[in-house]
Formats: sequence, C-alpha cells, structure tokens
Amino acid sequence: MRAQIYLWVGMSNGFIIPLNGLATGKTEYDWKVGKEFFESFENSEMLDAELDARVQVEKSGRYVGVDCHVEGKVVVECDRCLQDLDMPIDVDIMLSVKFGDEDSSDERQEGEREVVFVPDTEAELDLSQIIYDYVCLDLPMQRVHEDGECDPEAMKHLSGGFPDRQEEENNPFAALKNMF
Ligand SMILES: [Zn+2]
Repeated sequence: MRAQIYLWVGMSNGFIIPLNGLATGKTEYDWKVGKEFFESFENSEMLDAELDARVQVEKSGRYVGVDCHVEGKVVVECDRCLQDLDMPIDVDIMLSVKFGDEDSSDERQEGEREVVFVPDTEAELDLSQIIYDYVCLDLPMQRVHEDGECDPEAMKHLSGGFPDRQEEENNPFAALKNMF
C-alpha cells in the first residue's frame, strides 16, 4: 500500500521556504517572477519577464528536497537589431537541502540534485538567488531573432552604416568639393 502523501499549499511570498515548521510531506508554492525580480539583482539585460515558478518541497525526516520549475519568457535586446526579443525560459531546479555548515569535503551533487547548505540556525531558505542564476544560465550566449525576423527599420539604420557619407565617397565630385 502506498504511503499517504500530504499535499500542503504553502503561504510564502518572496521566494522564501520556511524550513522551520515545514510540514512533513509535500508543500507547494507558486511564485510570479517579473521584471522587478531582475531589477532587484541590478540586472538591466532583462527588459521584461513573465515567469511562473512552481515549487514543490518534500520533507521527510531530516531530508528536504526542492523541485522548482520555472517557465515563461523574458524580454532581452536582440544582438542584431537591438529591438525587443522574447526568449522562452524552461528550467528545472532540483535541490537537496543539507543542514549544518558547508564542508569542503561534502558532495555538491546528489544524483541529479544540487546540494544547498543551510546553517542550523537558519529558519528559512531563500530561493531567489538560485532561481536568478538558473534563469540567467538558461539564456543562450547569442540572442538574436530568427533569420528575417529582425526589425527591418532598425536594421536599415544599423547595417547601412552612414549612407550619406558612402555616397560622397563614391562620388568624384564630392572629393573635388572637399579640395576647395
Ligand atoms: Zn533582431
């Protein structure tokens, strides 16, 4: 017979998991990650963000596992046309919480879970830095629209360079004009 699993809906805003008083079983959190989240990290690359972070925390004895799925989109600047570019985000963050001070000999990885160390005195786990890091890592190095999707108006200004000067260079009379 399967053990009964309790599912709790946690009340927490601000990306905080209250480790003290966490109920045994599974607790779920739903957080919105918006533009102001990235602003609080002084990240100016993210022009906008509409992400949902769905977190499931499982507590069993001393074990606390965190499964966090972050999905949605962020808006960044296109490297080519410098206009807004939507980037889809879809990341899974799997953590195993260890209590006590971090020891250099401790494993940082437990299967596919990253180990996070929380001092015994700490009553809560703040996930914001972790979510921030994972979302930033999910973005590709090159951020460009698909071919042909760049803003044609912006491209005209950028790739054409300075059409007036080019015209002058190709015109022999322009060179003459400069001599007088
Ligand atoms: Zn573009």
